[in-house]
Amino acid sequence: MNFNELKLESRLLHGIADRGYREMTAVQEQTLAKTLQGLDVAVQSQTGTGKTAAFLVTLFERMLFDRALKGKIALIIVPTRELAVQIEKEAKLLNFHLGFVIGSFYGGVGYDRQLSLLRKGLDIVIGTPGRLLDLSTKGYLNLRNTGILVIDEADRMFDMGFLPDIKKLLQKMPPRQARQNMLFSATLNRVSRKIAIEHMNHPIFLEVTPEQLTVDTIFQELYYVKSHIKMNLMLGILKAQAPHNALIFTNMRYVAFRVAKKLQRNGFRSQHLTGDLPQSRRLKIIEEFMAGKFALLVATDVAARGLHIDNLDMVINYDLPLDRENYVHRIGRTARAGNSGKAISLASEGTADHLEAIESFIGMKIPVQTADIDLFATDMSLGFSPRNKPRNGGSRKNYRSNFNSKNRQRTNNRGRSKFFGAEKLINQ
Ligand code: ADP
Ligand code: MG
Repeated sequence: MNFNELKLESRLLHGIADRGYREMTAVQEQTLAKTLQGLDVAVQSQTGTGKTAAFLVTLFERMLFDRALKGKIALIIVPTRELAVQIEKEAKLLNFHLGFVIGSFYGGVGYDRQLSLLRKGLDIVIGTPGRLLDLSTKGYLNLRNTGILVIDEADRMFDMGFLPDIKKLLQKMPPRQARQNMLFSATLNRVSRKIAIEHMNHPIFLEVTPEQLTVDTIFQELYYVKSHIKMNLMLGILKAQAPHNALIFTNMRYVAFRVAKKLQRNGFRSQHLTGDLPQSRRLKIIEEFMAGKFALLVATDVAARGLHIDNLDMVINYDLPLDRENYVHRIGRTARAGNSGKAISLASEGTADHLEAIESFIGMKIPVQTADIDLFATDMSLGFSPRNKPRNGGSRKNYRSNFNSKNRQRTNNRGRSKFFGAEKLINQ
């Protein structure tokens, strides 16, 4: 169904068309059918299915027409700064012909700009729980005015320990009957359901194709490889497939750092994105990656949470995720509505359990690829010394101990037969 078929305000339709959206995605169609009538919803739909526009279109349309919402704010609570920034961007695009005042609020940046924004009088407030709570406790933000509440990425929010903050925020709002409430999540877990039932008005639970957790259009592949030659295989894959850009996931910060550095030494333009980097640096990296200034972004799950990249060619799981749901979050990034992409996972010793959990969660076996010996490329960074780690204090020790553990692994290697032992043929 086309957006035009919804009888939306013409300037809003104009913004939607400018944004390039014509057909609604399934979650948009199902959500808008309820929310445009002012009903509350709790929506489960996988990453990349267009949940953002589902709530933004709702709140714009309702704020344009519903007199009861006059002078009230729409509040969008999100787990991360990056997500706040991205939603703000999307909101401003759709708002282009409308003139609502939109602001985003998150920790890690100074108060000055945010306070002057608040003084302007906002219609749409987007923020992370901590900063919103802080601003409202200090009296800068009046949550009694909340006419529409959106809780986005609820599962992440609760995973990250924001439940107490959310509860405090809810207490500062008018009673639930006096606002429209929407909750969105890739998975509706017990906590999300409880919040929905206790703090929303008889919400309608929408589950958009729950049986299909992975996005159909993603081309998934799995390679078994011994951990100490993973880099060689990844280099070979990157050379052979030459993706325009790729998001590479590791489970630990120091591995993300190390992998990005190694890629650089092998001639790739790459950066790492980890939670310990200052906020301004993280935003800059994301911006540059989106602008195509470098091709390979190596990130941890937390740092990449909520990151939306249009036209991402490939996702590589350098490490298999420890949490099976993260597999879906990770690979979903390469199949944002309308695009299809590739997700390559490298499975090493000791990850068989994770793999089994992932495969039962997504309801399919990930097709296994055999890596030909030719696919392993020489790692030009070999001998790269840990001393090259920037002197930023604490993490250096970890970094060195990683090298030690790697060496230990090398001597103890009792790899199983399905892990390729090509190491003798390369690099050494
Ligand atoms: P989610 O929040 O479900 O993970 P997003 O809202 O971030 O997904 O949307 C994913 C991608 O799909 C974005 O790049 C967005 O611009 C795009 N998108 C959303 N709705 C549509 C649509 N109706 N048609 C085309 N692209 C869309
Ligand atoms: Mg989203």
